[in-house]
Formats: sequence, C-alpha cells, structure tokens
Amino acid sequence: RIAIRALHKRFGALEVLKGVDLTVARGEVVVVMGPSGSGKTTLIRCMNLLEEPDAGTVTVCGRTVECGGAMRRRERARQVRAIRHRTAMVFQQFNLFPHLTALGNVAEGPLSVRGMPREAARVLGLGLLDRVGLADKADEYPARLSGGQKQRVAIARALAMEPEVVLFDEPTSALDPELHAEVLAVMRELARDGMTMVVVTHEVQFAREAADRVVFMDGGVVLESGPPQEFLNHPVHPRAQAFLRLVA
Ligand code: ATP
Repeated sequence: RIAIRALHKRFGALEVLKGVDLTVARGEVVVVMGPSGSGKTTLIRCMNLLEEPDAGTVTVCGRTVECGGAMRRRERARQVRAIRHRTAMVFQQFNLFPHLTALGNVAEGPLSVRGMPREAARVLGLGLLDRVGLADKADEYPARLSGGQKQRVAIARALAMEPEVVLFDEPTSALDPELHAEVLAVMRELARDGMTMVVVTHEVQFAREAADRVVFMDGGVVLESGPPQEFLNHPVHPRAQAFLRLVA
C-alpha cells in the first residue's frame, strides 16, 4: 500500500531524512516513534507529498512519485493528485476551519472537493460525527469544543474523504492528558476496522494495543522496526532503549 524508498529531505543545511525505507501493507497500523527532531513529521508529510522530498520514491496505492527531478512535471502532478486523493492527514493542531460548524468541517471536503450534493454530504457528515461520538455536536463551532472533541471532528473530516490511508501527526500531543483517551479510542476503532494507518506518536499504550509494527527513527533514519511487544519490551538499539526509558 505504501512503499517509501531511499527518501532524502533537507531543509537548507539540515539533512532531516537520510535515506528512509518503509513499507506499510494494506490494513497495517504502523506507529512511528523517535526523539524530537528525528524526522518523523517530515517523513509522514513526505508520504502525501505535503513536503517535497529531495530524492527517493514514494508509492501510495499503486501511484509512484520519483523525487528529485526524475519525472516529467505533468506526470508527477498527476501522481501527486492521485496520492492526495487516497490519503488523509490528521494534524497535531487539528487545523479545523473556525468559521464552520463541526458538521460544516466534516462536509466541506465532500462538498467542495468531491462535488457531493449538499444533502448527501450532510448525511455522510452526520454519520461520521456519530462514529466519533459527536452526533450531538454537529452544530457547534470549533471554539466551543474541547481539544479532544476538535481532534475527533478532525478525524471525522479525514474519513469524509474516504481515504485508503490515514496519516496521523502526533494527534494527542496538543491535548491535556485526560483528553488523550477519547481520541485514542476512536483511532483504535479505526484500526480494528482495517484502516491503513501511519501514526506518529509517543503513546506507548496505543502502540501496544493497536499497532502491527513500531518503527523507531533517530537522526533521519529508521534504526529499528518490529512488532510492538517485541520493540517495546526488548528494543535492540541502545538509542531505542534510551528513548523508551524516557517515554514508557
Ligand atoms: P518532533 O517530535 O519534535 O515533532 P520530528 O521527529 O517530527 O520531531 P520533524 O518535525 O520532522 O521532526 O523535524 C526534523 C527537523 O527538521 C527539525 O530539526 C526541524 O526543526 C526541521 N524542520 C522541519 N520542518 C522544517 C521546515 N519547514 N523548515 C526548516 N526546518 C524544518
């Protein structure tokens, strides 16, 4: 479903990704962990080409982008569009539209991007808000929602685009600790339903319960990868051991 090969990305003099290889199978839930600055966010932003990699290839759902000028511009743009259609992203800071209600946020993509009729988008949106436990908040504006509720609206909004892959960028790290559980519960359910997910997070409990694999990044490379019980209980690399002592 996702294949990242030899991915490189630099910001000016700073080389953030130094040759990352990662494969995510259909229906797989992969948690990406690693110290601050190790390149986790950059990696998942490269997966849907929100960030432009300098070299390497990104394949999502059979569409491949060769980075670094190896591809004709128009063909590249076509592949990027196809990848963006199949992926959705949930951000740390929710990124909801403040001037739209919860329902308006969820229905916006189907209405404006997919060209869905208004009533169909409303029904879809209400169904998704129900799925994340917010049927009663459909008419609230983001300013009147808690952080956990905002993030659940953001997840419903991501699902409204009927993605084949959902990328999560530290979805709980902007929330007070008591609000993590409600967001993680929605994500666990999504994982159980078979969604392909890549989740940047330090939530060890979520990784134990919902991940098929944990990938540990440090210094712009993948240092270790394995099933959660194996990685979390018996990390091999000393840097992974040190990191887990801090977060676990
Ligand atoms: P964190 O856990 O702190 O979010 P991370 O592992 O997700 O860290 P990234 O956000 O990928 O790390 O950032 C890796 C490095 O790249 C950091 O040093 C960061 O400052 C730098 N960086 C990220 N985005 C940009 C940008 N747009 N311009 C310049 N530097 C950037």
